[in-house]
Amino acid sequence: MPSSYDALVIGAGFAGAVAARELAERGGMQILLLERRPHIAGNAYDRTDHADILIHQYGPHIFHTNNKRVFDYLSRFTKWRNYEHRVVANVYGTLMPVPFNLTSLALAFGPERASQLEEKLLSVYGPEQKVGIIELRQSEDPDLSMVADYIYDHVFLHYTMKQWGTTPEQIDPNTTARVPVFLSRDDRYFQDPYQGMPLDGYTPMFQRILEHPNIKVELSSPAEERLTLGNGALLLDGEPFTGPVIYTGAVDELFSCEFGRLPYRTLNFQFETLDQEWFQSHGTVNFTVSEPYTRITEFKHMTGQVNPEKTTIVKEFSLAYDGSPGSVPYYAVLSPDSKILYESYRNLANQYPNLYLLGRLAEYQYYNMDAITEQALLLSDKLLNKEDR
Ligand code: FAD
Ligand code: UDP
Repeated sequence: MPSSYDALVIGAGFAGAVAARELAERGGMQILLLERRPHIAGNAYDRTDHADILIHQYGPHIFHTNNKRVFDYLSRFTKWRNYEHRVVANVYGTLMPVPFNLTSLALAFGPERASQLEEKLLSVYGPEQKVGIIELRQSEDPDLSMVADYIYDHVFLHYTMKQWGTTPEQIDPNTTARVPVFLSRDDRYFQDPYQGMPLDGYTPMFQRILEHPNIKVELSSPAEERLTLGNGALLLDGEPFTGPVIYTGAVDELFSCEFGRLPYRTLNFQFETLDQEWFQSHGTVNFTVSEPYTRITEFKHMTGQVNPEKTTIVKEFSLAYDGSPGSVPYYAVLSPDSKILYESYRNLANQYPNLYLLGRLAEYQYYNMDAITEQALLLSDKLLNKEDR
């Protein structure tokens, strides 16, 4: 009976699971959570494969945050494996740390020339500073401009072309700024104070988040089969539903793409299990000058799983999302035009006073897991305090 639920949540990823738990636990609300897929955990879903290797079905997920509230919250549901992600770019066979740093500089230019360039970089930007490639390319100093061109050509251009189908200048500048040039010898991918992997995996962590007597999860349940929108009212199974409805899917799909599709990139994942202990030296190797795929990840580095005989890797191939059945929108393609289109959908959503858009898809943002968890906690605060949205 729809009326027996106080809130409806669509999607069992970080956004939906955390919001459902908060409303159930702190608000004492009865929650119905509908998930289209046959499993929980959204894109963070992990499972063992046929060789019993723990893999991330939707691409490698490494948790990192500087948000203590988020870390403490998730720590209620998991212990952590200490893991600091390190990535290298394969540049014609040389493995250089990414983000490009002072170690990469020495590998690219040789120790002597690199030390002159290092001195100049540090005098202009300062030690331990992070500089976006777009900013570095604006330098008028001939040495720095040469370094910027090298990094642009060998780290950013081809990888970005593969990932986004266009050049680094043409994509949202915040995207390349996620991987700035780092004037340091710290070769970790993230510098956040809290980083690691859920000790037993993501899916068990989600099981614990959703394990609450007030939460009913229905898998393989696309919202469109149960939820109807029209004239500012939401119907669940044909009956008016006036409690909060938290929607974490793609917002254009919620409205049958009536203004046209929001642009996304999707990925094809090619998994390979090999009869060897290790395939590569690092958790992830980025292919920045060659290969049609962007990167190869070897899961055992991240999960700490021990298996002397087998290892599983995944290659990622990026392409435009066209909404065809089975394909998944992974990355919002942010541009002035797509932001305007998104706003038109958000305005439509605002006509439903009890509808809340939450998450990477529904908010059309390039959010990491920690940012989504924070957003879910903040929305729950707001709903529980009954503030206006
Ligand atoms: P999702 O995880 O996408 O969950 C949304 C859920 O809603 C899905 O399960 C979907 O099936 C369901 N759904 C959608 N529409 C409907 C519907 N109509 N009816 C029912 N259910 C529906 N972040 C990090 O912090 N670190 C990383 O290392 C990292 N690596 C990533 C690698 C890749 C390849 C990708 C794509 C993302 C990565 N992220 C990473 C980002 C991370 O995946 C997201 O921040 C996080 O999953 C967002 O959670 P969410 O709940 O908003 O969305
Ligand atoms: N990027 C790049 N080369 C790299 C790593 C990243 O060009 O070796 C660019 C690329 O445009 C990518 C963006 O920086 O999409 C963000 O990289 P990140 O690793 O944060 O992407 P994600 O892990 O979210 O796919």
